Amino acid sequence: MRPAAAPPTPFSPALIRETVQKILAAESMPPIVQAGHPVLRQFAAPFDGQISDTELRQLIEIMRKVMHEAPGVGLAAPQLGIPLQLAVLEDRFEVDGELAAVRNRSPLAFIAILNPSYRALGTRTAAFYEGCLSLTGLQAVVVRPDGVRLQFLTPDGHSAEHDFHGWQARIAQHETDHLHGNLYLDRAELRSLSDNAEYGARWAAAGIDNARQELGFLPDLPQS
Ligand code: ZN
Repeated sequence: MRPAAAPPTPFSPALIRETVQKILAAESMPPIVQAGHPVLRQFAAPFDGQISDTELRQLIEIMRKVMHEAPGVGLAAPQLGIPLQLAVLEDRFEVDGELAAVRNRSPLAFIAILNPSYRALGTRTAAFYEGCLSLTGLQAVVVRPDGVRLQFLTPDGHSAEHDFHGWQARIAQHETDHLHGNLYLDRAELRSLSDNAEYGARWAAAGIDNARQELGFLPDLPQS
């Protein structure tokens, strides 16, 4: 299911810069914006020099810290209230062998991406529980392409292209979706929606077969 198109952000380049400068000047770490805030529903502005190279570098460092503290495996600038197409990704969680194998999850080295877009590689999909730092306390199953080719700009201004697979592809899609004003719930199997405690108690297995049967979603998916 494709989410509805997000309205473009009404922020001017000057307002984007002002918003970034406020965050850079603050004494404390910026809070993570929660669902319901319009900035999460705007198509963020493509980066085209609204902030200086130094400001961009400093903002990326702050985003990395916020992501680590949360903790999470990705953070998009709109999650700090900045409607700019910038996201950071990094997965350094230790996951046990079965979980890592079933979810095809392996460590992802830190990367900052600007103006990303992705397209599916092949037709294979993967369905797993997913959460978001802007929807605290909830998880839901999202069916996503198992592999994607991501095109983006690096912070030093080069065009880049990288293929992601498995859990890394999920992270790349989730963060890119944020920059286009979309949340994972837009694509989720809503019957799978779980409070974190219920998820931890019942559905934290590597795969989703039990959750599918008991909550009643994705009935046509073969047993994995
Ligand atoms: Zn998110």
